[in-house]
Amino acid sequence: MSAPAVVIRNARHWRGGAPLELAIEDGAIVERAPRGAVVVDAGGAVLAPGLVDPHVHLREPGHAFKETIASGTRAAAAGGFTAVCCMPNTDPVTDSPAWIEWVLSRAREAGHCRVHPMGAVTMGQRGEQLTPALALARAGAVALSDDGRPIVSAAVMRHALEYARHARLLIVCHEEDPTLRGDGQMHEGFTATRLGIPAIPAAAESVMVRRDVDLAELTGGRVHLAHLSCRGSFDALRDARRRGLAVTGETCPHYWTLTDEAVGDYDTHAKMNPPLRGASDREAVIAAVREGLVDSFATDHAPHTLEEKRRPFDQAPFGIVGLETALALTITFLVKPGHLTLTRALELWTEGPRRVMGLPEVRLEPGFPADLVLLDPEREWTVEPEAFHSMGRNTPFAGWRLVGRPLATFCGGRLTHADDAFAGAASLGGSPLPGVPA
Ligand SMILES: [Zn+2]
Repeated sequence: MSAPAVVIRNARHWRGGAPLELAIEDGAIVERAPRGAVVVDAGGAVLAPGLVDPHVHLREPGHAFKETIASGTRAAAAGGFTAVCCMPNTDPVTDSPAWIEWVLSRAREAGHCRVHPMGAVTMGQRGEQLTPALALARAGAVALSDDGRPIVSAAVMRHALEYARHARLLIVCHEEDPTLRGDGQMHEGFTATRLGIPAIPAAAESVMVRRDVDLAELTGGRVHLAHLSCRGSFDALRDARRRGLAVTGETCPHYWTLTDEAVGDYDTHAKMNPPLRGASDREAVIAAVREGLVDSFATDHAPHTLEEKRRPFDQAPFGIVGLETALALTITFLVKPGHLTLTRALELWTEGPRRVMGLPEVRLEPGFPADLVLLDPEREWTVEPEAFHSMGRNTPFAGWRLVGRPLATFCGGRLTHADDAFAGAASLGGSPLPGVPA
């Protein structure tokens, strides 16, 4: 189904804010609008390439009671995203070309944004036998990851990096030493002591980061460090950068927004892995972002049911949803306080993840795909989990007043989301339909 040609008028360019008019036809940005194109008044909103989330859990196959590819990508579109990379810790684990193809075909029929699946590093994510990296790449996997758990054996990681290199795939690493983590449920600090909760030291993450930096050097393989949360990890990433190694890193909005104090009195919505850290780690996250050490932002969108999150703290699953609050948490806590310009912040949600994952570039120029977001960086709104498009309501930000909101999202030239508050939506007509553009 082809979308109507569209002209977006009265927008501002995300680089520099210059007035911008842009035409879309047949899924791409074009020089001139064809006759009869729908005209949308952006009302001075900022126009940017669609956001990309390199780390989401869409939960299918197997856990459709938490999230589906349809609902997760609908949430992505509402958050201003036009592409997501989804993790293979599904049931069954996405460790074969057939399951990669299954995810891609589900996304094509039910998805609201582009979906780039990752394949597992090891069969069943058991950390032993390697998956067929080359076949996974040919089926469409953009990267390999055993996310959700670490690759405990350094020898397995070494061989995985060697094979992944031949398949030209990077390995996305969930860094956690299981012996240091033990049965820990939150960050090791005053709050854990006060609540009597078994704790996880920050070193459980950073020692594995250091190991994998060294293995990147040994193998020449590409390591991407997922959801970095603590000072030691950034020190190791800085060291890797100095040594010229192919190591990149991401961090998530909750790590620059919250500390372990958010657990309060056993609030399972503040339970995630890696855990929320102490104040000095939060400062290190912000410093690493300012310094340019962080290559990409990511949400680690991890939907769970409220029934699961209502369990006692030590039995509740780790993880929070993130797709529909990511942009606002970035603007409210990094741009408004002056840590980053809006342009730089958007780079870390667009060009950054595209470069890390090897996805094609999107520029606001003729010939590039019309994967776009119109956003209002000044709009204030209140987080209401009941209004999420995600099936997950597990967020620690319920009731928070945030600044910055996506108004409309286009993927492959098709309107995939229009905010109720966006006056220009009326001219576009109709509600967004699923079906990822080719
Ligand atoms: Zn993880």
